[in-house]
Order: sequence, then structure tokens, then C-alpha cells
Amino acid sequence: MREPLAALGTSVFAEMTALAQRTGAINLGQGFPDTDGPEVLLRVAAEAMRSGHNQYPPLNGVAPLREAIAEQRLADYGTGYDPDAEVVVTAGATEGVTAAICALAGPGDEVLYFDPGYDSYPPAIALAGATPRTVPLRPVDGRFTFDPADLAAAIGPRTRVIVVNTPHNPTGTVFTRAELDHIAWACLRHGLVAITDEVYEHLTYDGVAHVPLASRPGMSERTLVVSSAGKAFNATGWKVGWVCGPEHLVRAVRTVKQYLTFASGTPFQHAVAAALRERDDWLATLTARLTTARDLMVDALTGSGWRCYACEGTYFLQADAVELGYPDGTELCLDLAYRGGVVAIPSAALHADPRDGAELVRIAFCKAPEVVETAAQRLVSFTTVPRLRGKGARPCPEPRTHLPRSA
Ligand SMILES: *Cc1c(COP(=O)(O)O)cnc(C)c1O
Repeated sequence: MREPLAALGTSVFAEMTALAQRTGAINLGQGFPDTDGPEVLLRVAAEAMRSGHNQYPPLNGVAPLREAIAEQRLADYGTGYDPDAEVVVTAGATEGVTAAICALAGPGDEVLYFDPGYDSYPPAIALAGATPRTVPLRPVDGRFTFDPADLAAAIGPRTRVIVVNTPHNPTGTVFTRAELDHIAWACLRHGLVAITDEVYEHLTYDGVAHVPLASRPGMSERTLVVSSAGKAFNATGWKVGWVCGPEHLVRAVRTVKQYLTFASGTPFQHAVAAALRERDDWLATLTARLTTARDLMVDALTGSGWRCYACEGTYFLQADAVELGYPDGTELCLDLAYRGGVVAIPSAALHADPRDGAELVRIAFCKAPEVVETAAQRLVSFTTVPRLRGKGARPCPEPRTHLPRSA
């Protein structure tokens, strides 16, 4: 296989999910819900299949979905898109981001993203033949953010694109207007195009609002917005995503997308259109449920000596157990799986340099209330049993010294 893709190997998510299966631990590693989405979503998908919507959709996606997406962006954020020319439906946000990167960057170009970041970005940049550059996110008063000086320093004459994920996986940060305006200013000053990954746009807590970068002054004409139905409607297996932006940029994405999947998921597209139109009650219920789950997890962890970082949105909580004698998140995750009955992801795997964020683990709380409750109890008992030290201390001596990085 071609370098640098050959070096990627199996993702940490597959690795940790396999570990959960081997040990019978509760899997709070990979971020997917264990309950279904709204009734209208399931009903319309079934109806669409029964009424013959089973062949190729148009390359752009079915018209009702493109119209529903344009209406939602306008209603929620005041950003207008022409559903025919400025919206394209993709095989999940993953294809949207990959097609956008491949459309905009090539050999010799640099693509920026915030580190840690979603695991598909570095391989997508590699696929495009471009060079990744990162801007670190670090905790300031317990909340992950970036230093505008680091952003400025990461931009060079070859920088073409910046990928901006907010609400952010894995840190749980939702970028403020001030943070977005630093990014917008950099884009305008250096002529960058932004690709925004907004798959958690609806999943913010405590009254924190998601603000799209495209809604900031001067940015709509240089931003490709990517989002997806997977996280908003508990349908991560459907892989219905979309890209919105100015016509010339969307056309470029569509050209790449044409030869990746062409199109996918006709009945699911119809169902997502219906769910988007009726989203309000469902999203209110979902965010209330996720807030409760997050609070339960934070209380259990902080009550037993862990440190939790601000979680303003997403499915994820960043935490460390340094105070409990775990300076290394990978070791913590292995101990947790074998002794604690819970699987989490070492955040180092989501960093460009795994030495960064070495102490952190990412815990997904997007599970049914009883699952979150059991997991929280297990985490409390895990940390109240004093840590065994020294040779042979780990009860299950599986020889794993190192987990492959996910990307
Ligand atoms: C889950 C996730 C995705 C993937 O979305 P799909 O629609 O399933 O492809 C993309 N970006 C981030 C940040 C995610 O957490």
C-alpha cells in the first residue's frame, strides 16, 4: 500500500471495541448511541423502501433532503443556501470532509486542523497528497482552547485549507464567537478556505450555542459546511451527511464525490429530510438526556478523584486520573478495561503526536441511562480500589504494551 497511508493500520476504535468484546467491559470508547432515533425517521425510511425509493438517488442527493437542509441552516443560523447548487448530500460527514479536502488541496498544499482531532482528517489529507499542519488545543482553566499565536504560526504560504470541528471531538469544546473570529480573520487574511465539521451542531449543553463559522462576517463565501444525520438522530449507521457552501466550492466537492461513492442511501435520505423538518422535540429530548448522562459521569468521576474537563457539547468527556496514579491514559484504559469493566479511548490516539494529551482519556456518554449509570458505578469502584503496583499487578496479563494510533 502507498505511503503514508500504509502506516495507518487498524484504528484505535476497532482495537478498543475488540477489547470491550474480549473483556465484557461496557464500551464507552466508540461514540455511537445504543438507542434508536425519532419515530418519524424510522417510519419514513420504512415507507420509502416500501414505496420504491430503492435505486440511485441523484448525485446531489434527493430534492426533499436538500431542501430540508437549506431550510434548517437558514432557520437555525441565518445562512442561506440554494438547495440545487449549494448543497450536496454525502455518505456521512466523513465522505463530505474527505471529498472537500481532496477537492481543495493537493501535493504541495498544507491543510490545518486542530489537534487533537477526528481520526479521519490526517488520512484524508494524506489521500489528497497534501501536508497536515496542526494547531494545538490545550486546557485553559479546565476548558480546551487554542492560542491565536499558535494559529498564526501554523499558517504558511502553502496553507490552503483549515478544518474546523465545532462542537469539538474529543475535547467537548464549542468554539465561541471570539474563537471563531480569530479563525475567520486568519482565513480572510491568508485566503484560506474553511471546512467546518459540524456533526454535533445540535448537541450542546447548558445553553451554550453552536455558532457556524460560515455565519461570521466574510466567511460564507469561503466555507464548506459539513454535517450529518448520524449524531443528531441516533443513526450513525446510516451515513447520511451533507456539504453546503458557495456554488463553485460545492461543485468541486461534487466532482470528487461523484467518483468516491457517486450517491448512497436513497430511503435514508428521504427519512432524514422528514426528521430534519420535525427536529425540535426530538433534539430537546436528546440534549436533555445527554446532559443528564454527562452530569452523572462527571459527578462519579470528580467524586472519586478524577479530573474532568469542560464538556460544552458532543458525546464525549475528556478526563484524566493523574491524581490517582495514572499519568498515562493508555495504561489507564487497559486497566479500566481489564479491572474496571469499562472501555474508554486514550486521547493520545487522537493527537498528531501521541506524547501530547498522554494522560487523557475520552469517555463517550451517549448511551442509555442504565448503561451510563452502571458504567459510572464501575468507574467509582475502580478508583476506590487502591491501585496495584509492580510486577504482575495487572490481573489479566495480556501482553499489550502499545496501542496503534488511530491515524
Ligand atoms: C462521528 C463524527 C464524524 C462522522 O460522521 P458520519 O456522518 O458518520 O460520517 C465526523 N466528524 C466528527 C467530529 C465525528 O465525531
